Amino acid sequence: MLRVFGIVLKLWFEGRMSVTTSVFLEESKGNNSHFVERSQSQAVFIAAEDPLQNLCLASQEVLQKAQRSGRSKCLKCGGSRMFYCYTCYVPVENVPTEQIPFVKLPLKIDIIKHPNETDGKSTAVHAKLLAPEFVNIYTYPCIPEYEGKDHEVALVFPGPQSISIKDISFHLQKRIQNKDRGKNDEPDKPCFKRKKTEEQEGCDLNEGKGTTLKKIIFIDSTWNQTNKILTDERLQGLLQVELKTRKTCFWRHQKGKPDTFLSTIEAIYYFLVDYHTDILKEKYRGQYDNLLFFYSFMYQLIKNAKYAGDKESTKLTH
Ligand SMILES: [Zn+2]
Repeated sequence: MLRVFGIVLKLWFEGRMSVTTSVFLEESKGNNSHFVERSQSQAVFIAAEDPLQNLCLASQEVLQKAQRSGRSKCLKCGGSRMFYCYTCYVPVENVPTEQIPFVKLPLKIDIIKHPNETDGKSTAVHAKLLAPEFVNIYTYPCIPEYEGKDHEVALVFPGPQSISIKDISFHLQKRIQNKDRGKNDEPDKPCFKRKKTEEQEGCDLNEGKGTTLKKIIFIDSTWNQTNKILTDERLQGLLQVELKTRKTCFWRHQKGKPDTFLSTIEAIYYFLVDYHTDILKEKYRGQYDNLLFFYSFMYQLIKNAKYAGDKESTKLTH
């Protein structure tokens, strides 16, 4: 209880209690896990030491209830699932769609999933559930054709050719200029031969054009599988974008991977936050935080279960 009191006190001193009207940590009965209960809160602040703190999230009461009542039915396939169906991309019966937030995104997102990726483990489905109009999930090798769209589509991948988010507009504009020139003046001349000239002329490309990026692609798979998808000719020639290094909160660390290897929903979230500030040049005010609606809840459950486990083992050893 001291620990719980400490967290509440810390939140109080940080002036956050005015927003979260009540924050309790409660031990669930007959269940070895803890959960955080918040009532009447617009914004949710998880325990002070949590990396997902300060997110502007919708009330997660619906998830708390669903967690207490256990698995429920998928209204599409009839399967028994927790929170949502990872094959139909819909919430289950005891998580009504109108009680989960809807996130508006500034661009479309394609997620390419490797067929061997275990559906239940992927966080890609969170994006589809929370921003259904903006997100499409494809299972490799059934992916769209991006031919002729390489001036408005980019792929998130940290490779040797990757550029940073703030340079996306510049590089896409260059591609548009290449295309225009290719059509008008030099139809037979391949783009790469003109590279040097463009680099010299390219200085004013960022000015007053806004962004031309319409779609961003994420690959949802383990590291080895990603390389197989990347070599697909349909993805060749697309602009590759890398994210700023951020530490992951992902609870299923991939073996041998550094803790900067983000889960798909984290990668999407951080991409959008940077896109908002670096490309749209607007102040970020939590517009995409609800993309972590499921993720932060599940993360907290696992963290609390781990804490409960640690406490149990402490009891046993002392
Ligand atoms: Zn289903």
